Amino acid sequence: MNRSAGTLLILGSGTSTGVPMIGCRCPVCCSDEPRNQRSRCSALIRAGEKQILIDSATDLRFQALREGLKQIDAVLYTHTHADHVHGIDDLRSFNLRNQQSLPLYGSPESVATLQRSFPYIFTPGDKGGFRPRLHLETITGPFSVGTVPIIPLPIVHGDDLILGYRIGDLAYLTDCNRIPPATQAALAGISTLVIDALRFSPHPTHFTIAEAIAFAQGCGIERTILTHLSHDVDARQHSAALPAGIEFAYDGQVIPLLFTPS
Ligand SMILES: [Zn+2]
Ligand SMILES: [Zn+2]
Ligand SMILES: [Zn+2]
Repeated sequence: MNRSAGTLLILGSGTSTGVPMIGCRCPVCCSDEPRNQRSRCSALIRAGEKQILIDSATDLRFQALREGLKQIDAVLYTHTHADHVHGIDDLRSFNLRNQQSLPLYGSPESVATLQRSFPYIFTPGDKGGFRPRLHLETITGPFSVGTVPIIPLPIVHGDDLILGYRIGDLAYLTDCNRIPPATQAALAGISTLVIDALRFSPHPTHFTIAEAIAFAQGCGIERTILTHLSHDVDARQHSAALPAGIEFAYDGQVIPLLFTPS
């Protein structure tokens, strides 16, 4: 079957605090460079008539307004840290538009945590007024949303094993500091990698910029986009020092992908 074109839109390229960070007067937080304004980490796949959100970040409402989003068909969760989940209540606005329950996909751990954290959404019979209409789907292996094939990729985030995703020739691996060999093997043939690269200095649960670059170069990937960036990264000053084929993500960036419809 012929390959179809899609895109990945970077909704948010920032770490958990966002950039600028509340109360910070550092040069990046005070910068007028638009690429230094980073909302919380999230992305949107547009492929095969579907719009698939990766994480419902804290800034979801702002991101949706900025990008003019009107439709979401599914949400893929990477994990359940607050910055990746806490826009969940704003999924209500998409319910109003499409008048049906929205599927949320996650690992068994993520599904259990979402269920426990948001009883007003997931407890049957809870009245709760205008609550989101969402249902949880446990990921047990590759699956499809419409004709878009999704491959879940286990990645290490500190003490947790969480999920990245491969869609056709693009992989999105945020919040990680180690990639297991089986996941590295599952990246064979991708041309674009979006990967966590928090900052320059070491961190117990995130790749540094140097570590993310070393991983991408070790895999021989054509185009690598570093995301989940902190205020240590000045898009203007530090971009020039990146090796060929490596770039910093920015909010609103559109990245092409190719996939074979399922
Ligand atoms: Zn995060
Ligand atoms: Zn700052
Ligand atoms: Zn995290």
